[in-house]
Amino acid sequence: MQGSGGTKTQSFAIVGAGISGLSCAKALTAQGHKVTLFDKGRGPGGRMSTRRFDTPLGETMADHGAQYFTARDPDFQSEVLDWERAGAAAHWPVISDDAWVGTPTMNAIIRHLSSGFDVRWNSRIDGLTKASQGWSLVGAAEDTAHYDFEMVRRAMLARFQPCWTVLYAFDTPLPGDTLFLRDYGAIGWASRELAKPGRTGMERWVVQANASWSTAHLNSPAETVADLLFTALEEGLGSPLPKPIAQSPHRWRYAMSAGLGAGSMWNPALGLGVCGDWLLGPRIESGWLSGQHLAQSIAADDRVAA
Ligand SMILES: Cc1cc2nc3c(=O)[nH]c(=O)nc-3n(C[C@H](O)[C@H](O)[C@H](O)COP(=O)(O)OP(=O)(O)OC[C@H]3O[C@@H](n4cnc5c(N)ncnc54)[C@H](O)[C@@H]3O)c2cc1C
Repeated sequence: MQGSGGTKTQSFAIVGAGISGLSCAKALTAQGHKVTLFDKGRGPGGRMSTRRFDTPLGETMADHGAQYFTARDPDFQSEVLDWERAGAAAHWPVISDDAWVGTPTMNAIIRHLSSGFDVRWNSRIDGLTKASQGWSLVGAAEDTAHYDFEMVRRAMLARFQPCWTVLYAFDTPLPGDTLFLRDYGAIGWASRELAKPGRTGMERWVVQANASWSTAHLNSPAETVADLLFTALEEGLGSPLPKPIAQSPHRWRYAMSAGLGAGSMWNPALGLGVCGDWLLGPRIESGWLSGQHLAQSIAADDRVAA
């Protein structure tokens, strides 16, 4: 994130329109600032993305990043209620009283949040250069420089665990009444997409390997992983399953952050800040709170008085 401009309304560029960047964008806008977001993705999602894939019965889709989230902080709870009123989120009581999902897909939340902003999709930013009146974003890596040693140090300390995820589509409902599995053999999480509120269409399951299995299979071919996790799903559901009509594997190399116990970082002299789940913890709520934390640090900075 970078700020530039006069003494009242400031202009901010936010790199990354995931939940943390959008949380910060919303709070900065409420403070009276002007915000533009840049995201390398083709559309809304980040790690709350929903993947479309082809099957012989037509295109379908399933959440393939975050599967659900909890809301425990009062401010985040009130934000989630706004999403619910907008039709972008719903309770998923199958999991717990405080479990939520995006509706009709997880990325609907990011779509909802980003709709009010100037978001430049397909815009990968590789670095920043300091100009006399603020910052320039750089799309080519050779021009980058490091301006804040502590931010760089923290970023280098950030640790992520990978997650192999496979989406399977079927032309018939799977036998049994299991709706989700947690921590079963190689499986960290598996769930029936149609068990989530707002989903329609053909039967499909999302299977996510646990972190140690994903690490051990990091460089395995995607089709091998899809076969192995299908066998794991059969074991987890306790019966042979019909062959999937389509499958879509994806390796998340940087899925779950370890968190560094910091809300966000803001350098008032540079007008440069960072937020994200990598600072706070591997959850949607943490990403949102980190974005709020950064906006609060900016509001408390008398150089950026709006
Ligand atoms: C497989 C998986 C399962 C998960 N399960 C859960 C769960 O069940 N519950 C839960 O609460 N959380 C879960 N999480 C974690 C949750 O998704 C993240 O904590 C949260 O989405 C982080 O939000 P963020 O905005 O910090 O980062 P991101 O969502 O990663 O957003 C960062 C954005 O920045 C963009 N970007 C990155 N680099 C650049 C660049 N150079 N230039 C421009 N744009 C860039 C990306 O395209 C992305 O849109 C899961 C994550 C994964 C991957």
